[in-house]
Amino acid sequence: MATFVTRAQWGARAPEGTNSNITPEQGGVVIHHIDAVKVARANHADCAAQVRGIQSYHMDSNGWADVAYSHLACVHGYLFQGRGEYVRTAAQGTTQGNDDWYAICALTGGTASAYDVISAQLIDAIRYGVNRLRVSGGAGPAITGHRDHHATECPGNLYSRVLKGEVNPGGGPLPYPGVNFRQSPPTVHASVATWQYRMNSAHGYSLTVDGQYGAGSDAACRSFQSGKGLSVDGVVGPATWATTFA
Ligand SMILES: [Zn+2]
Ligand SMILES: [Zn+2]
Repeated sequence: MATFVTRAQWGARAPEGTNSNITPEQGGVVIHHIDAVKVARANHADCAAQVRGIQSYHMDSNGWADVAYSHLACVHGYLFQGRGEYVRTAAQGTTQGNDDWYAICALTGGTASAYDVISAQLIDAIRYGVNRLRVSGGAGPAITGHRDHHATECPGNLYSRVLKGEVNPGGGPLPYPGVNFRQSPPTVHASVATWQYRMNSAHGYSLTVDGQYGAGSDAACRSFQSGKGLSVDGVVGPATWATTFA
């Protein structure tokens, strides 16, 4: 069971303002990691100082009102309170991402040649945070990686865990995001990018991963539905989503 660390407990600075004008029921939670270098601390005693450093960087160097994220999770199984529930984040790199989605950042990093190890305790802390943002913050059911919103490698080696639904509070598979994808008018939603990536990586398609459900996505969906014995309507609803992520 993860342990929650309040802002007072980690020594947070007061925010320079908060914006509560958000619609998190239309999105959900975005998973991040920190950087293209390994950052996980060996000893948990060093994690609070790391979070304070991230907050100071975001406020003093980026000019943001507070640490960018809703919460931050460490490899030792602790969830550090960030901006919290019902506060707009600065983490996603798009206006819609910050309007509709909360952000949980893992205190891990690296590149394909050398990533921090994803511990079971980290997964547990992220699940705790997703549940908290749903129950206390009205987050929608969707879970995405940062790369589904914006051109970035983030969240690195956590992305495959996202696709498996491991960071969902109840475990996998990745939950249906609550939005049907259809071509007319084209659905624009970060979970479309998650689906496009999965269609390519697990089912052999070659879709552009752009979060927009256009003609190529519709055609791939119909082909996939036909091959899986689903009703062929070109719409990604709960059954097609579940089959894609099974
Ligand atoms: Zn990120
Ligand atoms: Zn820690």
